[in-house]
Amino acid sequence: MSMVQPKFRTTQFELADPALFRGFSYVGGRWTAGASAQMFAVTNPADGSHLGDVASLSATDSAQAVDAAQQAFGPWSSMLPQQRAATLRRWYELILEHREDLALLMTLEQGKPISEARGEIDYGASFVEFFAEEARRPNIEGVTSHLPDAEVEVWREPVGVAALITPWNFPSAMLTRKAAAALAAGCTVVAHPSAQTPFSALALAELSERAGFPAGTFNVVTGDAPVVVEPWMKDRRVRAVSFTGSTEIGKLLYRQSADTVKRLVLELGGHAPFILFADADLDQAVEEAIKAKFATSGQDCLGANRFFVERPVYEAFCAKFTEATSRLTVGAGMDDPDIGPLMNDAAVAKQEQHVADALGKGARLLTGGARHDAGRLFYQPTVLADVPVDALIMHEETFGPVAAIAPFDTEEEVLEKANDTEYGLVAYLHTQDPRRIYRASRTLQFGMVAVNRTKVTGAPIPFGGMKQSGLGREGSRLGMEAFTDVKYVCRDWA
Ligand code: NAP
Repeated sequence: MSMVQPKFRTTQFELADPALFRGFSYVGGRWTAGASAQMFAVTNPADGSHLGDVASLSATDSAQAVDAAQQAFGPWSSMLPQQRAATLRRWYELILEHREDLALLMTLEQGKPISEARGEIDYGASFVEFFAEEARRPNIEGVTSHLPDAEVEVWREPVGVAALITPWNFPSAMLTRKAAAALAAGCTVVAHPSAQTPFSALALAELSERAGFPAGTFNVVTGDAPVVVEPWMKDRRVRAVSFTGSTEIGKLLYRQSADTVKRLVLELGGHAPFILFADADLDQAVEEAIKAKFATSGQDCLGANRFFVERPVYEAFCAKFTEATSRLTVGAGMDDPDIGPLMNDAAVAKQEQHVADALGKGARLLTGGARHDAGRLFYQPTVLADVPVDALIMHEETFGPVAAIAPFDTEEEVLEKANDTEYGLVAYLHTQDPRRIYRASRTLQFGMVAVNRTKVTGAPIPFGGMKQSGLGREGSRLGMEAFTDVKYVCRDWA
């Protein structure tokens, strides 16, 4: 078995720090290809080129990552909070120092435009900075005693080993958002990044080593997801699971967590409504609508999937939004277009299916509607108007650059339509009427409501969904909850 780490296969681009390119898993402070040394290939979605090979660990190898994390848990959790904070802070600084290389790796494996990749590195780093600060905050609460001669306290203690499972659309920020919270709480981590985008996570592991996390504190295990993750779900030493991905796999992990009663954070799919009332600033709404639909090439759980526009401004919005959409540039992420490739063939097929279905049910095609000639995984930015409520796109996440627009007449009607989904992650609302803003914000069954703007996320806010969009919250102080247990202590004075 060769113990030499695979090489970066792309000759077109170079990393300033080639050691950030890692192909082995990181377990117990060592880089490993596992007992069998099996590898799988990772390709660039922009052109299908081979970026490099990555270790495919077995179930036995994966269980050993839990051994390592369990061993590291005692020392890490009993370390002084300021020492944990300092290690996280060093990780944050290293991530920013290597921003360009990390963004390059992300764009090559994920396909997103390089400016967006840089933005994700900054966003991801901000969680490490935030939780480095949170690590120092008091985790003991004094309570006014309800008992005579007794002193009452509530402590928060780290749960133990946390398993983190992250998707391909935000390969860096989804990992830092989970890992920084878990590590700050005093947990140790086993993480599985998507097999489609493992290099971003492995580069973060390399930087975690340089930051000085003790061996076994932060482990990244690559390979076939069911093979790697199942042993973690069965292992009772794994006390918490934090997952971002599809609702289908989220439900599977929910079921698998039952036997060992794991703490659970699930960040699942979204199906965001974008609601535009006639009193809104139309030009601003069009600008925000473009961001809400086409960021991350439409492959974003926060992506607007359903545009509801009040009838008096319906045609004007359709015209302006279509015009802005047809100006969007499409190409390989390294050329920094507005829209890059989709992740895989299934994603392209889903765009085709949703568009054909909507057109078959009477929708009007305003622009796009076909594959893009930039390459196999590219789809044209597309706008559909008059999309009927029974179209697939009005019920399923499209996860791509296709926008579906429909008119509405009353506030009551549109809020009912917006809530008519099992998803409840984010809703976008455009209106100038403060009373309507209040009423609609109250009525919308979504974990996040964005009023007259699109970008609302960040480290200090609780990110998460209602209904089948998930459980728990990430970011903010709430982001540490699933990684801690509450312990109540009552001491007798007498
Ligand atoms: P996915 O198929 O559910 O994959 C997510 C993660 O789960 C990946 O690491 C995947 O590994 C792993 N996985 C797949 N099958 C598994 C199994 N049987 N057991 C354990 N792990 C398994 O989701 P996706 O298609 O990659 O990501 C897109 C979805 O994520 C969308 O629905 C989107 O809305 C959602 N998302 C939600 C948020 C949020 O915060 N709410 C943020 C971003 C994305 P492999 O990729 O290696 O198979």
